[in-house]
Amino acid sequence: MKRILLALAAILIAAGAAFYFMRDQIGLAIFQRATHAAVTSDLAPELPDGLTAAFCGTGSPLPYRNSAGPCTAVVAGGKLFVFDVGDGAPETLALMGLQPARIEAVFLTHFHSDHIDGLGNLAVQRWATGASTAPIPLYGGEGVERIANGLREAYALDTGHRIAHHGPEVVPPGGEGYAAHPFVMPEGQESAVVYDKDGVRITAFSVNHGPVRPAFGYRVDYKNRSIVISGDTATSPNLVRVAQNADLLIHEALAPNLVGIMGSEAESQNLNGVAHIFHDIPDYHTSPSDAASEAQQAHVGALALTHLIPPIPVSVIEGPFLGDARNRYDGPLWIMRDGDIIILPAGGGIERRHVLR
Ligand SMILES: [Zn+2]
Ligand SMILES: [Zn+2]
Repeated sequence: MKRILLALAAILIAAGAAFYFMRDQIGLAIFQRATHAAVTSDLAPELPDGLTAAFCGTGSPLPYRNSAGPCTAVVAGGKLFVFDVGDGAPETLALMGLQPARIEAVFLTHFHSDHIDGLGNLAVQRWATGASTAPIPLYGGEGVERIANGLREAYALDTGHRIAHHGPEVVPPGGEGYAAHPFVMPEGQESAVVYDKDGVRITAFSVNHGPVRPAFGYRVDYKNRSIVISGDTATSPNLVRVAQNADLLIHEALAPNLVGIMGSEAESQNLNGVAHIFHDIPDYHTSPSDAASEAQQAHVGALALTHLIPPIPVSVIEGPFLGDARNRYDGPLWIMRDGDIIILPAGGGIERRHVLR
């Protein structure tokens, strides 16, 4: 027995020594493997035909390390449609295996800074990794052309540097930045189809985020499946109308009770400006309970909460965040995290997965 133990100890010591002396080679091998996985990762072909919602940013302007600013992507027919691009969202998309070269178009719900902070970076990623020869189509309400033109100007020096360094074959001149597609609602209408190609139909609809105007949500239809993205909005009868019988409603959520605590805390520290903001924001967002009521009225198949205000760092806060939301809606209700996807296969069904690498 003693001899066996001694032999075992000798083997362990030898293995430890081998690991110690070979640690650089082991590190390099791990790095090589991770690099291979990162370079070849492409989630879209792994998904079934149908619609997939990808949560590339479930955060808000409140700082939180674990979530990017607002961003929801939809994969349809192998193409990527991105709705809002908050700070950190391009990195999260990459870590989910969603390649910028697959981006067909970006859609903005409105022009609050947290919804556009990642736009410049996303365009550079697509241009540099996909050798794109045309800018990304950027859809939004009136004013979106100012954002596209402003970004182009802000990145003009960078564009020149990269073309000079890598050459026009790698980073084709004219392929950088965004091309604006502004739209307005036709007189007397509160929704309009803004994209319709290869079976993917995207409808913009007015929401209630005043004084922010224009402010839109979007409905995506493809192969008999449908996803509705609320954008930023207080409760909105128009959203309930457009979302009727959708398979998935992705809704923003602000918990007034928790934001109230934050406001009181700011007030007690004499941070009056901050306290004022916390007091102002609940009136143009939707509480989880009200989002659940709207999901029920619209008879949607599932409700996914995003744009979480405040962030939820530990699961024990989920209950206070949701309030009585679960009593108001019969279907599946999920609080989303960055890196989650919800798959709606063309044939039916729904599945939630986490794909952040
Ligand atoms: Zn907003
Ligand atoms: Zn927002």
